[in-house]
Amino acid sequence: MTWLDLPSDDLFGIDNLPYGVFSPPGRHPRVGVRVGERVLDLADVLADPVFAEPTLNAFLAQGRGAWSAARERIREVLTAERHRAGAEAALYRLDEVALRLPFEVGDYVDFYASEHHASNLGRLFRPDSDPLPANWKHLPIGYHGRSGTVVVSGTPVTRPCGQRRPPESAAPVFGPSQRLDIEAEVGFVLGTGSPIGSRIGVGDFRDHVFGVCLVNDWSARDLQAWEYVPLGPFLGKSFATSVSPWIVPLDALEAAWTGLPVRDPEPLPYLADAGKDGLDLALSVRLNGQEISTPPFAAMYWSGAQMLAHMTVNGAATRPGDLYASGTVSGPAASEAGSLIELTHGGTRPLTLPDGSVRGFLEDGDVITISGTAPGRSGARIGLGEVTGRIDPARLPTG
Ligand code: MN
Repeated sequence: MTWLDLPSDDLFGIDNLPYGVFSPPGRHPRVGVRVGERVLDLADVLADPVFAEPTLNAFLAQGRGAWSAARERIREVLTAERHRAGAEAALYRLDEVALRLPFEVGDYVDFYASEHHASNLGRLFRPDSDPLPANWKHLPIGYHGRSGTVVVSGTPVTRPCGQRRPPESAAPVFGPSQRLDIEAEVGFVLGTGSPIGSRIGVGDFRDHVFGVCLVNDWSARDLQAWEYVPLGPFLGKSFATSVSPWIVPLDALEAAWTGLPVRDPEPLPYLADAGKDGLDLALSVRLNGQEISTPPFAAMYWSGAQMLAHMTVNGAATRPGDLYASGTVSGPAASEAGSLIELTHGGTRPLTLPDGSVRGFLEDGDVITISGTAPGRSGARIGLGEVTGRIDPARLPTG
């Protein structure tokens, strides 16, 4: 199997091998794969300059053939005894390296692909209309987000200031958000891009998408509620979006493919799903170390392939490093919602945590951690890692 001394149920065993960018002590950032609680320096063991880059983008641009070949070489290095001495010299403990944003984010799109989340939010934001907008089952709704404020897990998130209109008030006020929330999501990282004027079909997903990460789409609900009509999310979202440091390649997710929920009605032909396009990813959300939700990605209505097909059906170009996120992952059960606004019914039914603390929305100092696992090819689960962030107090404008 492998010369590495790893338990067979390790979430970061030989069947996973997610990619990230790390800085060894006193050295420049470079590309590595996580193995157990260590990271393998690919620039050292594979002697390929693409892995000496400070981001994954050059590797992403090489395409599926290169991705699969690299994975084969890494697996050989980690299993064949003859590579052991060289590889051991290129392994660092996770606690001695700094993890970086793994790729330079090109365009960033956030979707809204969970029927449970969209229905829950529709009931809260628009109590007098149908929970789902008329277009919802015909196309995966999304918006273009702010790629420059995508940050790696561990980066503190400053509570945003902005306009909000308090209930029963005719005029808005300015100040720190009072309803700061999370959105537990899965992100898809583009490898092979596509030129302007072309489309990526549902069946071409695996030729273009390199892998997945976890995303926390931090959301200021009071800013969002005041600003979003009619053009959608803006400053209530763009202050920070956190991503996990490890990108799990699609090659590691072969056992995770599953069917999608029943389509009703059938979407237009360009969105027809190609079969097992769902992904059986299990998420967990912790607030200050206490689990508050277990969102199931398999319950998502729209697949990652359908999102990509829709995102490019108008001829929009894509580039290596583009990121699109699924939208909040919420399952059918109350305990499976991926945001506090759903878990607390708009803040009206605060959560009581095991330590006795009570939360409607996030308080300064709160730490949110989203983690995830997927079925691995040998039966054991593989880890998606985690995306974590602490809320720092608002910085009020001066002068
Ligand atoms: Mn979102």
